[in-house]
Amino acid sequence: MAGVAEGCVIGVDLGGTKLLAGAVDPDGTVHHRTNRPARGLDQLELVEMVAHAVEGVRRSVGGDVAGVGFGIPCTFDARTGLAVQAVNLPLHDIRFADVMAERLELPVVVDNDANCAVLAEARAGAGAGCSEVVMLTLGTGIGGGLYLHGEVYRGFQGGGAELGHMVVDMDGRPCQGNCPNWGCLESVSSGTALVREASLAVARRPDTDIGRALEAGHELTGPMVSEYARAGDPVATGAIEVVGRALGVGLANIANIFCPQVIVIGGGVSGAGELLLAPAREVMKRRALRPGRDEVRVEAAAFGADSGMIGAAMLARERPSDVPSAAGPAAAGAA
Ligand SMILES: [Zn+2]
Repeated sequence: MAGVAEGCVIGVDLGGTKLLAGAVDPDGTVHHRTNRPARGLDQLELVEMVAHAVEGVRRSVGGDVAGVGFGIPCTFDARTGLAVQAVNLPLHDIRFADVMAERLELPVVVDNDANCAVLAEARAGAGAGCSEVVMLTLGTGIGGGLYLHGEVYRGFQGGGAELGHMVVDMDGRPCQGNCPNWGCLESVSSGTALVREASLAVARRPDTDIGRALEAGHELTGPMVSEYARAGDPVATGAIEVVGRALGVGLANIANIFCPQVIVIGGGVSGAGELLLAPAREVMKRRALRPGRDEVRVEAAAFGADSGMIGAAMLARERPSDVPSAAGPAAAGAA
């Protein structure tokens, strides 16, 4: 599509547990953020929640919004414009761009959430200046994004780069959500896997701070495990190390296959920082081939949990032709 949108755009990152949206100015400043829970909704309710969140940001901004970019945890088929399948949300076979453009009466562009995240990190974050960047977003599941030869690589007709579903254990545990596979990286290194590891560890050792927090009725979440780990809780630290070592197996595969300049780790679990990344790097270095073993950097996302939202806003501004988009009736009328 022609031209780059001026003014304010809205970036939306829809994850398996929550939505993050914000208005993004041309200089990259994010304002009027909103968070919404995404758990327990069916497809229709999800669409409603997402539309409400965007309308809320738009009202708060109070001025013109040039377009909306959505990062959603789905595979796509560019031939049909369909968001085909999500592992951790009840989204399938939906013309998400058309539905949102009609509902919001704004130009809309949609891409996979991790594709949005790698775009942001490669352009302006931990991969700035690099032409080969791979991203993993560790949240409810694990998203994968490839930035190869200076462009986001989406596979044939946009169906690609589900790096979280690379198998790291052929006879491993069943993967989660709608994935039919076993032993995927997502099943051992996502936020969901971290909570499972921490639960097992707390059951063995309830006499720690995190054990006492659970006993007091707090629900165990990935961010909570990261927080206790940073405070030195041995159970939380141990669970993050287990997940980090599993992540390292995936990183060795990525280093061997792509040999990128940098693998960027984002999503909520990456909040654990070096407690997660140090064991992951150590395993990667032990398992990967040279030169990748020595050359591939492993870095935390510079935009933290905002990578997907910022990348979605970049897409809204640029409206590339190779991802599903829709003009929106109001924009078409005004053109
Ligand atoms: Zn899987």
